[in-house]
This record gives sequence, structure tokens and C-alpha cells, in this order.
Amino acid sequence: MAEAIIIDGKAIAAGLQQRVAATAAKLRDGRAITAGLAAVLIGDDPASQVYVRNKARACAAVGLASFEHRLPANARLPAILDVVGKLNADERVDGILVQLPLPSGIDPRRVIAAIDPTKDVDGFHPVNVGRLWSGEPGLVPCTPQGILLLLRAAKAQLAGAEAVVLGRSPIVGRPVAALLLAADCTVTMTHSKSRDLPGLCRRADIVVAALGRPQMVKGDWLKPGATVIDVGINRITTPGGVQLVGDVDFATARQVAGAITPVPGGVGPMTIACLLRNTLLAACRRRGLPDPEALSADVIKV
Ligand code: NDP
Repeated sequence: MAEAIIIDGKAIAAGLQQRVAATAAKLRDGRAITAGLAAVLIGDDPASQVYVRNKARACAAVGLASFEHRLPANARLPAILDVVGKLNADERVDGILVQLPLPSGIDPRRVIAAIDPTKDVDGFHPVNVGRLWSGEPGLVPCTPQGILLLLRAAKAQLAGAEAVVLGRSPIVGRPVAALLLAADCTVTMTHSKSRDLPGLCRRADIVVAALGRPQMVKGDWLKPGATVIDVGINRITTPGGVQLVGDVDFATARQVAGAITPVPGGVGPMTIACLLRNTLLAACRRRGLPDPEALSADVIKV
């Protein structure tokens, strides 16, 4: 069998970012709206600092305003909620993201629940979670949204397809399952107590691996021709140095799959592009404007 088609997340994300930039320019020139994204960073986790900096750069590249609010690692909940409350009220801010993880002792659920759901561009607020599962329009989490866009770009047949989602986290597995269900897949969700993961995967036309387990999904777990989306980002040490690998064993999986995302260069680049997309959608919806046509790819059928 021929090797799998590689789904080029970098190129697909770049295309989406171009559409976001063109839409942002239209809103600015036509309606004097500059959409804005505010990031709240608590503490000094180096990875979080890099993520927030990258998000600000991405905003600048597509013509969105960005705002950054830093709080010390010992900030308490009332101070954090105060910042979130001010951002909720700030008309320049269309999207609010609180960079996770939060310092220990701060319950992220309390912070997320304080964000105005119409500005919740991460899609983690219980209102948006409920909307996703009940099939109502809302803000959809970025990585899952990116996964659906990759599947559509790869022209995967979704209606009626058997989809297996490996992992049930609130930020990836669960929302991906909701999106696949909305796209008329027959969805199986799995987790660490599931029995016979290889057997479940072998039935699947679509496999989404979001486990955080390096190279766990092997080629012989896959049905020939399956579409495989590898969400995992794992750093492993090899004799050649530190290497970034996914949850799928790419070398064996590409011999069996029909299409597969690489790591890096697959799901990762889609996440920021979808964050920018959500910020523009939030900017329009908050003002009662229809979703911009260039962004209304049918990510979710609602
Ligand atoms: P979590 O650790 O929150 O969830 C992992 C899930 O996998 C859990 O549901 C867990 O089951 C399940 N799991 C773990 N080990 C096994 C196993 N041996 N067998 C079966 N199920 C198992 O991870 P996330 O969802 O946050 O992230 C998953 C991966 O995706 C990570 O590598 C992360 O770095 C990456 N990621 C990538 C993003 C991107 O932009 N590309 C964005 C977000 C995450 P249980 O619930 O029973 O514990």
C-alpha cells in the first residue's frame, strides 16, 4: 500500500491566518472595528511566557490588537477575578484568554467561569461547553476546532464515519468528540480504563490521538486507509538529542494510514490560527454582526 498523505497543518494554518487577516482588515476599514485579544498571565512559567508572546505576535501579524496582563505567581483569586472583570467590561477587548496552567492553589474553573462567555475565545467556559454539546452556536475550543479544519482540508469523509478519540480531556478529547458527533461521525471516546484500544482503533476510519503518550499508537492499530490526527506533543530523549514526537508512531502509522498529521507541523499550528479566528468571530457576534463569510467554514454544523 502507498504511504499516507501528509496533512500539512502549517500550510492549512497559514491559509486560515490569511483569511483572518483579510477579514480583520475589512472590519477595520469598513466598520472601524479593531478586534482585540487580551491574555492574562499569572506567574512566571517559562513555557506560558513563550505561548503568550507567540499569541501577541500572531495578533500583530493579522492586524488584531493584543493586550497583556501579568500577575505575580502569588496572586490570589480576588486579584485575578478583578482583572478578568475589567477585561469583561473593556470594549476594546473581544477575546480573553487566561494562560493555563495556573499556579497551584488557584482553581482554574473559578477563573474560567468569571470570563464573559461571549469573550471566551478558548471555549472553556461552561456556557460554551454546553453550547457545543447541545449543538448551539458558541465559541469552540481552538485545538479541537483546528482538528476539524484539518479533517475537512484532508477531505475526510465525516458523515457516517467511525471515529475513535483517544483521550477525554476537557481541552481536547471531549470537545473533539462533540465536533465529530456534530459532523455526523459515529464516535467512540476512550480513556485510560478503556479495554483493547488497538481493537477499537482498528474499526476506525478516523483516529484522533490526544493521550500525551509518546508514539503509543502503532501502525498495526490502524485500519488501512484511516485518517490519523496526532495531537500529542511529547519531548523524548534519543541518542541524537531531544526530539518532539506525537502520540502516534509516525514511521509505522504512515505505512497503513491513508492520511496523517506530522508532529511537529500538524495540529500545533492550527491552534493559534483558530484562536485568532475565534477572536474575530467574538468581535462580530458581540456587535450583532453575522459571522464573516471567509471564516464560516462549517467547523460545526450549528
Ligand atoms: P491530558 O493528560 O489532560 O489527557 C490525556 C487523556 O489520555 C486522558 O483522558 C487519559 O485518560 C488518556 N490516556 C492517558 N494514557 C492513556 C493510556 N495509556 N491509554 C488510554 N488512555 C490514556 O492531556 P491533553 O488532552 O491536555 O493533551 C494530550 C496531548 O495533546 C498531550 O501530548 C498534549 O501536549 C497535546 N496537546 C497538543 C495541543 C496542540 O496544540 N497541538 C494542545 C493541547 C494538548 P484518563 O482520562 O482516564 O486519565
